[in-house]
Amino acid sequence: MTNAATFFQSFAIFDIEQRLVDWNSDFVEEFADAAPLLVKGLSARDIHAACLLPERALDLSWALNDAPPSAFEYINNRRSISVVQELSVNGSIFRIAQSTNAETQLHPGMPDQSAELLRSTALQISATVLKRRDQETLRLHDLALKDGLTGVANRRYFDELLDAEWKRCKQSQLPLSVIFIDIDFFKRYNDLYGHVSGDECLKSIASSLRATLNRPRDLVARYGGEEFTCLLPETDLCGARHKAGELELAVKALAIPNGKSKVAPIVTISLGVATAQHVTGDNPLALVRAADKLLYQAKSEGRGCFRSALFESLG
Ligand code: GH3
Ligand code: MG
Ligand code: MG
Repeated sequence: MTNAATFFQSFAIFDIEQRLVDWNSDFVEEFADAAPLLVKGLSARDIHAACLLPERALDLSWALNDAPPSAFEYINNRRSISVVQELSVNGSIFRIAQSTNAETQLHPGMPDQSAELLRSTALQISATVLKRRDQETLRLHDLALKDGLTGVANRRYFDELLDAEWKRCKQSQLPLSVIFIDIDFFKRYNDLYGHVSGDECLKSIASSLRATLNRPRDLVARYGGEEFTCLLPETDLCGARHKAGELELAVKALAIPNGKSKVAPIVTISLGVATAQHVTGDNPLALVRAADKLLYQAKSEGRGCFRSALFESLG
């Protein structure tokens, strides 16, 4: 009977499209002809085509079938045994090809315990691959939702969360506030100190805004350029005004010089605060627009300050 320890030597995992997902060093050794080509995503057909030794090519002949075997298929009357298993794990399908340099012998069938061991090994491998994939997905998700420069949420994430919080606050009949923030005279800042300093300034401001929000569901996002937004669920106008004052002070406390500002010798922000005391309807963006309008009121009335209003009173 084949010794289990020598039975599993090389493995490669292919996804549903027969593309290489993972493989071990024994697989590289075994498919030495194709070794220089092995990269994630390589199709089994390409590996097959690269095999100069006919028996190696045979091992991968399953890859040429349009409908690969759904359970085990193995060629065991040669020195090399090739096994393919199709696995469905958490909705993803993997095909696992394994082979070994087992002794030359004719097996009437795969030994039961080997089949069992193969199954559990394959499951372990798939779990590892899936975990790695999940981590990668999370990383990509993170990249998709984070602003690359400042590390705070991006506009897309803000919009997603705004929708969710709008629905939640509507259902729970709790207020929802949005603060729109714009850095004052930032073009002049860039002109005076350069774009690199401008970027550093954006990062510092983003961090201090984030540090000032302390409820778990509060969010600060870079809405674009030198504009930031804050989402404050379950926060009434009084609370949002209080937060706006804190944000304004936090940026002042950074004391970043802006020799060209007409407001102060340091970098300041202007803010617009809008609160939906009673969340109704299905247009959360209207709340953002209201906050933006109030921001421009703050701009036109001197900058370095905030203007606020109840969404309901803005008509
Ligand atoms: P206001 O007080 O009216 O807001 O004046 P402002 O100069 O801040 O506004 P304006 O819209 O005229 O200029 C915004 C500036 O923000 C222009 C642009 O150079 C700068 N800016 C936008 N995004 C970035 C960025 O990612 N990095 C840097 N360094 N600057 C940026
Ligand atoms: Mg602006
Ligand atoms: Mg500005």
